Amino acid sequence: MKLEGIHHVSSITGDAQANVDFYAGVLGLRMVKKTVNQDDPTVYHLFYGDDKGSPGLDLTFFEYPGASRGRAGRGMIHRIVLRVGSVQALDFWERRLGAGERTRGSILFSDPEGLGLELRVVSTSDASLTASHPEIPTEHAIQGFEEVRAYTADPDTSRNLLENALGFERAGAASWQARGEKRGGRYVFDTAPGERGVPGAGTVHHVAWASLDEEQVPWRDRVIAGGASPTPVIDRYWFKSVYFREPSGVLFEIATMGPGFAVDEDPAHLGERLVLPPKFEHLRERLEGTLTPIHAPAVAHS
Ligand code: ZN
Repeated sequence: MKLEGIHHVSSITGDAQANVDFYAGVLGLRMVKKTVNQDDPTVYHLFYGDDKGSPGLDLTFFEYPGASRGRAGRGMIHRIVLRVGSVQALDFWERRLGAGERTRGSILFSDPEGLGLELRVVSTSDASLTASHPEIPTEHAIQGFEEVRAYTADPDTSRNLLENALGFERAGAASWQARGEKRGGRYVFDTAPGERGVPGAGTVHHVAWASLDEEQVPWRDRVIAGGASPTPVIDRYWFKSVYFREPSGVLFEIATMGPGFAVDEDPAHLGERLVLPPKFEHLRERLEGTLTPIHAPAVAHS
């Protein structure tokens, strides 16, 4: 039993339209689901990914309109690393972003609310998960998650859970890899800054690791045996979720690969309308009246 890398990463935004403009407009990801936070249906939950909305490239955001900016600290993820295919792709992104800190193999930059991002050249046999965007040549497109980096004071406190419960393979002093049959993703610790973290806009809420559908309950049992306290299995409609904190304090989720985002929308039109899981459908009229209207970013078609 192995986890299939990173399923999704969920973060907080204070401005849904600016978030759409950046992740769909600039980074060229596809908005694959526009829905509400199932724990608080008065606010958006936006999902961006590849053309199919695959686990392995799914950045999600809870919108709290006007939320003030947070700051990553101990027990929080501070950077999401995304794969690109070549140094030429980095050259393309360096020009397109017009910002960031370039090294030969990567670009470090932030989203408009300060969320740490990195594009990194990674050679891998994992399938490339890309979204179509008229301004972004396919060979330069973002290809999937590579890793998330979190702050801790002591990576060893997490080691037992990561290795013995979750089956992560150690890849360095403070670095692990979750690799299944199809995909892999990394979890890396950096030394926490002195300042306390503050949750808020531009901070990561949790990372989800991908499980085969039938293995989620056994994973939950292993998490309990490893000393953590998972939630029951929660049906998120497009996947099922179990949440727990790993010892450093970072919120982990184990999410099933299926059934996926096409279960209730035509795959050709993912993310175009507000989609509500059946249990929230009765709230549609009220929600459509209160949620901030958002529109797809304007794209200069060549
Ligand atoms: Zn999640």
